[in-house]
Amino acid sequence: MKRIYFQAGPTTLPKEVMEQAKEEWDDFQGTGLNIMEHSHRGKHYEDIHEQAKSRMRLLLDIPDTHDVLFLQGGASLQFAMIPMNLISQGKTAKYVLTGSWSEKAFKEAKRIGSSEAVITGKDSEYRTLPKMDYVPSDSDAYLHITSNNTIYGTQWQDLNTFTHPTLIADMSSDIMSKPFSVSNYALIYAGAQKNLGPSGVTAIIIRKDLLQDHENVPSILSYAVHAKNKSLYNTPPVYSIYLLNLVLDWVDRSGGVAEMEVRNKKKADVIYNAIDRSNGFYNGYATPESRSLMNVTFTLGNSDLEKQFIKESEENGIYGLKGHRSVGGFRASIYNAVPQESCESLAEFMDHFQEKYG
Ligand code: PMP
Repeated sequence: MKRIYFQAGPTTLPKEVMEQAKEEWDDFQGTGLNIMEHSHRGKHYEDIHEQAKSRMRLLLDIPDTHDVLFLQGGASLQFAMIPMNLISQGKTAKYVLTGSWSEKAFKEAKRIGSSEAVITGKDSEYRTLPKMDYVPSDSDAYLHITSNNTIYGTQWQDLNTFTHPTLIADMSSDIMSKPFSVSNYALIYAGAQKNLGPSGVTAIIIRKDLLQDHENVPSILSYAVHAKNKSLYNTPPVYSIYLLNLVLDWVDRSGGVAEMEVRNKKKADVIYNAIDRSNGFYNGYATPESRSLMNVTFTLGNSDLEKQFIKESEENGIYGLKGHRSVGGFRASIYNAVPQESCESLAEFMDHFQEKYG
């Protein structure tokens, strides 16, 4: 039986994906080897590598103007690679701060080149998303946003409304969860370990005009080098990409990204409703208009009950609810692979807990 599990990432993968990986564990397609034992230059792995890229393209409707890369180093390496590759002489990188991850991205950019935070939601303790009224300037290297703020549980509701000629988004915690227009973005990146698969691989979607090699950027950190080598410049994380490919297949067979959004809304509703009908026994951390469909954050009106809440949730087979240390309280991460039934079990538990202690 799979656990009822709400961890923020790495986290649960679709049951069907795990079953297929198990089936192919010691004999991938009659080869007598696990796929991770195959050469990354061999036909078996190459097929997976290409299939994973094609599936990304198909599911997100990625236009020919953009390339797909699979790199290592997590989203955190992208915090550095982006400014290294994209801040040129006389240009300034602009950041929208909506939580700890965008702060980290900005901090890294400042180490590398001219960078400025142009909008911040910090005044609200990142409970609400700020007004996005930035007017692009010719001197902008790019504008960086974080589409979903994993720690605070806020999410930009519509990814198609921002206009900047070089818009960059960290979509680590909501890529593949709802449709949006890739062509609005110059670069999108996402660590895989929430909606795409296991940790170890980062997906990057990059507009081809940004693929310029720079003498002062080491090869391993150059988008142009990775694109030219089709993400095989060095040995890729073979097993992570194999699993990512299976997850993408699962998304496709489940009805694609539009269906993911339908499911995600339904799942989030169940938990937000439990918070909203509790009359302050539970309090949502994010303001309602900024609420995330991926990370539901909440606290208890009576914080003395927090330990008891975790203890009893685990006694009921529900795990992974502890909030991030910087926010406290609780967080239910309900990425694509978390089933509806898990959310219903949590809401039911929340109601019972309130009946008992409210
Ligand atoms: N950005 C966001 C929005 C995240 O949620 C995370 C990880 N939780 C990161 C960046 C950092 O990712 P990684 O650990 O892959 O570097």
